Amino acid sequence: MTTLTGETFESVDPATGAVVGTHPVHTADQVEAAVAAARDAADWWASLGFAGRAERLARWRAALARRMPELCRVITAETGKPAGDAQLELVLAIEHLAWAAKHARKELGPQRRAPGMLLANQVASVEYHPLGVVGVIGPWNYPVYTPLGSISYALAAGNAVVFKPSEYTPGVGRWLADAFAEAVPEHPVLQLVTGFGATGAALTTAGVDKIAFTGSAATGKKVMASAAETLTPVVIEAGGKDPLLVDADADLEAAADATVWGAFSNAGQTCAGVERVYVHERVYDAFVDKVVDKARKVEAGEHYGPMTMPSQVDVVRKHIDDALARGGRALVGGNGAVGERFVRPTVLVDVPEDCSAVREETFGPTVTIAKVADMDEAIEKANDSPYGLGSTVFSKSRGMELARRLRTGQTAINAPLSFAGIASLPFGGSGESGFGRIHGPEGLREFARPKSIARQRFTAPIALTSFARSKRTEAIVGKLIAKLHGKR
Ligand code: NDP
Repeated sequence: MTTLTGETFESVDPATGAVVGTHPVHTADQVEAAVAAARDAADWWASLGFAGRAERLARWRAALARRMPELCRVITAETGKPAGDAQLELVLAIEHLAWAAKHARKELGPQRRAPGMLLANQVASVEYHPLGVVGVIGPWNYPVYTPLGSISYALAAGNAVVFKPSEYTPGVGRWLADAFAEAVPEHPVLQLVTGFGATGAALTTAGVDKIAFTGSAATGKKVMASAAETLTPVVIEAGGKDPLLVDADADLEAAADATVWGAFSNAGQTCAGVERVYVHERVYDAFVDKVVDKARKVEAGEHYGPMTMPSQVDVVRKHIDDALARGGRALVGGNGAVGERFVRPTVLVDVPEDCSAVREETFGPTVTIAKVADMDEAIEKANDSPYGLGSTVFSKSRGMELARRLRTGQTAINAPLSFAGIASLPFGGSGESGFGRIHGPEGLREFARPKSIARQRFTAPIALTSFARSKRTEAIVGKLIAKLHGKR
């Protein structure tokens, strides 16, 4: 797509500030044109059926897998994350794409349903049709894995997609869309529009059939409000304040390792990253010692990259300062850990529960650790949050029980973030974390419209939906239902 105004913006390497690419700022008219083109493409894409789409998605997947080092370099250039982390998100995205393409027919194809006794002369079935055009608004923290959580599932379900990447990672979006166009050259089934918030806002009102948004809860609310004007449905993945629980019988070494990785990897810029930890008092001291020991070995700039979004540095500093001013202590890091671009790991203890470091999404390499008398208190504190995205439990004997009691969309037991790598599991949140699901069968159905069909096989002996219905029929049905359902 060419820009009419010629307005462009630059993406930069957040580690150095060097310009790494120039991209068009697409106007509202151009976004509308992209959606109109997508509509034609969507008809063709839907007409291919599951097998035709799976074949083409496999071509795209092969390109992603073959050219992994190339795409990793683009991810690293725009986010600053280490090459190994760029590869990890790409590996997970490829696995999800494969799962979505492989399972679309089974999950969305025609399924028989029981017609019930009264309508036993009918064959009942449901199938899931594509919505048409899906608009995907993506974030910068995992610029491949996160948007592909919507894009791959929307495409596998038979939709065309118009993708607006974050202004911080337009080059990654460009790369993905170009690789798709090479694999599927016939029609613009996956298009890219770039720019700032206004371009994303234009996408929500451009006539798409659904918006899949990942980002902050504040922007998610704006997206939902503007989508409401046209009753356009939305799926919102809006971050979290994820807790990790450590029970008295937990493997402390593994729990400490998961805490350190879950809190600091990707510089803490992970929607389902570990932000707060609740530890049984019997193992609190031993656990904290282990976390401190491990956290001291994690280096900003080596194990993780810079803060991708410069303004996030101020949020992290404020949360640390607030915690320290209110009686919290930094066992590792502290306010001196916050540099201009990089933030060193910070472990905070004794932080009051109403501090911003405990209540608000920090999205930085910090973690709070609190002592609890028992796991009931841990559950209560973990659930006392406006967010409800992910959670982690370390417990040898009560993992499942504690997981079920956590009011989050997904819980990992005895390992960090494992749910995010399992393509068959739905992913999403509640409350300020948003709603709707990506990944898994639920993720495919999020981008599909259920179509119910009841086909009559033979004329029923008892005709209920006809003016020819007799008094005798009414009496028989009345008696039948009273007999079937009235015994209690
Ligand atoms: P935003 O929610 O502002 O941005 C997310 C996406 O929405 C970007 O593509 C952005 O475009 C776009 N956008 C911005 N305004 C609008 C609008 N009015 N209508 C439609 N789309 C819009 O997040 P930020 O990147 O500013 O990050 C802020 C905070 O959000 C972080 O500190 C973090 O707490 C949280 N966050 C959570 C993420 C998650 O994984 N859940 C991911 C990213 C951030 P553009 O970038 O061009 O402004």
